[in-house]
Amino acid sequence: MKVLIVGAGVSGVAAAVALKAAGHDVTVFERADSLRASGNGVLVWPNGTGILRELGVRLPELGSRIDEADVLAFDGTPLMKMDLAGATEKFGAPTIGVLRGHIIEQLAALLPARTVEFAKRCTGIRPGRPGAATGVTVTFDDGTSADGDILIGADGYRSVVRHKLFGDVARHTGLASWYGLAKMPSGLRSEHVVPTYYDKLRLCTMHPVGDGMVHWAVEVPWPDEELDRQGKPTAWLDLPQPPDRPARLREWFGDWAGPVAELMASLPDEDINVYPHVMHQVRRPWGRGPVTLAGDAAHAVPPRVGWGVNQALEDSWMLGRVLSQPGEPTSLLRRYEQARYTRARRVRRLATIARRTNRPLMLLHRLPQAVRGDGIVSKTLISNIDNCSNYVHPPAGRARTETVT
Ligand SMILES: Cc1cc2nc3c(=O)[nH]c(=O)nc-3n(C[C@H](O)[C@H](O)[C@H](O)COP(=O)(O)OP(=O)(O)OC[C@H]3O[C@@H](n4cnc5c(N)ncnc54)[C@H](O)[C@@H]3O)c2cc1C
Repeated sequence: MKVLIVGAGVSGVAAAVALKAAGHDVTVFERADSLRASGNGVLVWPNGTGILRELGVRLPELGSRIDEADVLAFDGTPLMKMDLAGATEKFGAPTIGVLRGHIIEQLAALLPARTVEFAKRCTGIRPGRPGAATGVTVTFDDGTSADGDILIGADGYRSVVRHKLFGDVARHTGLASWYGLAKMPSGLRSEHVVPTYYDKLRLCTMHPVGDGMVHWAVEVPWPDEELDRQGKPTAWLDLPQPPDRPARLREWFGDWAGPVAELMASLPDEDINVYPHVMHQVRRPWGRGPVTLAGDAAHAVPPRVGWGVNQALEDSWMLGRVLSQPGEPTSLLRRYEQARYTRARRVRRLATIARRTNRPLMLLHRLPQAVRGDGIVSKTLISNIDNCSNYVHPPAGRARTETVT
């Protein structure tokens, strides 16, 4: 089958690897001039690393293994610990901290040369040429077009493909992440532990990503919940320009616990990014005819829940699996969406809950350590992976036997 993919983010390149392995002729069209080596750091749970390994990525070369996630109050008081080494044991794959761009590069290295065509901004889609039994044509801003049997819109949360199909945009949640890369603060316990500090409104997290570096991110309220018709926030004007951003961050976080204060003191003037959080409704089905969506284009969720890349990998794995079965292309695409729908909805629900956790966590601040529930939070993580992943379901990770019907 001739497969067209719009977007060379994690979902686009991972889908390309999975579909090539299933024997399809795949081309990815990316608007940028090259792969995006930059970008945020991400935590990839055992389901995501299991998929990466299955696609052919060598995990030891990818990032930093994460064994524990610590939840702390802004003043450094420990509140809860999440045992990620236990999840590794259960699912047979690690959690890793890694730069998103590094995942993309490693996946793209598995593709034959010229699978990704750059400087191709998708502007529209239309039904395939007259006479073709099925098919779709995608058009680009340079006046060219491409024909295929199916099209996968993997073009992120402001997806043009989704907009052409359904006309909807992701809604802003009222929060934003400011983030960047920094040297690991000396006050951090280990490069295998992710600490996240909370107050009633905000958080600051640091993910070791290897080579002595951390991806840091803070979450703060964002003043304007509106997006314009392209899905861009309308309140950009309130944002300090790059040289003034560290000063704003120090104002907010400079008096937090040692490692946070150390991070704030070392921030550069440039390379501090701001990402207003958005969330999609998960549509059923999320495609139409020979066109479907994958990754953020199908179900963007805020970073706090830590499932964006993990879902991109789940979608890609499921596409590879479903499209290796016999059947008519459009019904195979509906089968893929159906298989992923319930789990994507569960991730959305988790994201809604995660937005409201600051105040309850601050209540823990007043309880003795012994009753704070480290065991509960570790079990919750395992059951979230069980519930939200197609790859590790049914439980125990090794039995990847879910039938796709
Ligand atoms: C600060 C931060 C922290 C995060 N932390 C985590 C985490 O810990 N765990 C996790 O799982 N997720 C995390 N995420 C989310 C994760 O990064 C995203 O969900 C994921 O990268 C989405 O991948 P994607 O391929 O679907 O979309 P994108 O990465 O947005 O890729 C879309 C691609 O399509 C291209 N494109 C767009 N429009 C067009 C067009 N018209 N024509 C051609 N190409 C086009 C873009 O240039 C881009 O290359 C985080 C995100 C942020 C911002």
